[in-house]
Amino acid sequence: MSRTAQEAPAPPEALARYEAVIGLEVHAQLQTLTKAFCGCSTKFGGAPNSNTCPVCLGLPGALPVLNRRALELALRASMAIGCKIQERSRFARKNYFYPDLPKGYQISMYELPLAIEGSIEIEVEGEKKRIGITRLHMEDDAGKSLHEGFPDAEQWSHIDFNRCGVPLIEIVSEPDLRTPAEAYAYLNTLKQILEYTEVSDCNMEEGSLRCDANVSVRLRGAPKFGTKAEVKNLNSFRYLSHALEYEIERQIGILESGGKIVQETRLWNVAAGRTEPMRSKEFAHDYRYFPDPDLLPVSISAAAIEEVRLSMPELPDAKVARFLRDYGITSYDAGVLTATRALADYFEAAVKAGAPAKAAANWISVELLRRLNDAGKEIAECPVAPAALAELLGKIEKGEITAASGKKVFATMFETGKRAAEIIAAEGLAQITDTSAIEKIARAVVAKSPDNVAKYRSGNEGVFKFFVGQVMRETRGQANPQLVNEIVKRVLAE
Ligand code: ADP
Ligand code: ZN
Ligand code: MG
Repeated sequence: MSRTAQEAPAPPEALARYEAVIGLEVHAQLQTLTKAFCGCSTKFGGAPNSNTCPVCLGLPGALPVLNRRALELALRASMAIGCKIQERSRFARKNYFYPDLPKGYQISMYELPLAIEGSIEIEVEGEKKRIGITRLHMEDDAGKSLHEGFPDAEQWSHIDFNRCGVPLIEIVSEPDLRTPAEAYAYLNTLKQILEYTEVSDCNMEEGSLRCDANVSVRLRGAPKFGTKAEVKNLNSFRYLSHALEYEIERQIGILESGGKIVQETRLWNVAAGRTEPMRSKEFAHDYRYFPDPDLLPVSISAAAIEEVRLSMPELPDAKVARFLRDYGITSYDAGVLTATRALADYFEAAVKAGAPAKAAANWISVELLRRLNDAGKEIAECPVAPAALAELLGKIEKGEITAASGKKVFATMFETGKRAAEIIAAEGLAQITDTSAIEKIARAVVAKSPDNVAKYRSGNEGVFKFFVGQVMRETRGQANPQLVNEIVKRVLAE
């Protein structure tokens, strides 16, 4: 479909004159066994409507009771993003009609959210920036409509209420983000924090983490924000980036052609690669919010907050700082190794088992991650245990094998799950440190290349590398490189 006249793409020089303003509303499913206000299972993928009861189906007379674990996880998330936990908060009914919402309202929080005024630090291209968080509140999820046969055959719409009543937190950011890259970094950092704290599994394919992006544009230097549009339900990083890029250009195009932005809710059409209008903007008063009379207000004591503090694991930023301090590794490696708690634990287990920290950091971030990635495996399924990696790195450090052989051994360890010692013995990879053996090979190599010897002697230092390379090749990479250097130099000097 072609764009309407109003949506003509903006010329490139116009894009540079504008700046985008972005705020994200992120929804994360809490990792509880049961739903927010009833005892139904939250397990994903069950037979349709198998995890339902009168409470989550909104049957008359059924009464909700708040899931204590859901509250604990929401409190932990609040603290991890630096929010103030409010002494008193309250659930409200957000009224609207939709087939996947049998109660006719969503249970959410409105004028008294669970926590307010936090922030997290993001990093884009080495630049750090603090992004404000307006609020964090709890709510319940809706069910799912599934449309079949559309658009050609007979059409059926089915409803699955398994997700209905699953506990969510919504985290609303300040309009502090300025580029799609910053929005990406913000969502990524938030995801990492929610995973570290085990608040949510953040599985985006299963919809456990999704976000709505609010976007406006303004001329650079303009004092006020422009009118925003909201793009709903982005459930992957790629969709978030693409939708923001598209939406920013669309709005600039409208302004450049003399039009006005209408405040509205839009959808990202994946197949067409564009945002499309969904409905005109709804306002808070449209929802007729009122305190839910079925639920008690939530009061959080200082003692309860202290309990949350004690249950808090080390957060990503603190872990990075500690890794830099304790292990002397590069900040790049520290970033890679702390991407997930499991990977950081693996690294620390290897060091504890005796691996030199810098070598372990390097091997894990290069060799190990590449092989895991190629095999489509998570660190939890890694066939090489941390202690086994430590053993291999110890052998390289002690000079029992060369680093080049080490890579071969590691590949075999990864494929077979065997230990380094066994592979080194079976494949005869022990490092050659026998000087007379190396010298014999060096002499043979030199004798074979009188031309290069002449070049070397007439001052071409570059061919030295050629000789070293040849000796290493003859020894299948097993000769001690330092010895090879010394011996080749000596032989050539004769
Ligand atoms: P609404 O009342 O329309 O829901 P809110 O003030 O609650 O708006 O903000 C919702 C989200 O939109 C927040 O994440 C906020 O940071 C963001 N936001 C607010 N104003 C703008 C704007 N002009 N441009 C982009 N994002 C904005
Ligand atoms: Zn239920
Ligand atoms: Mg809002």
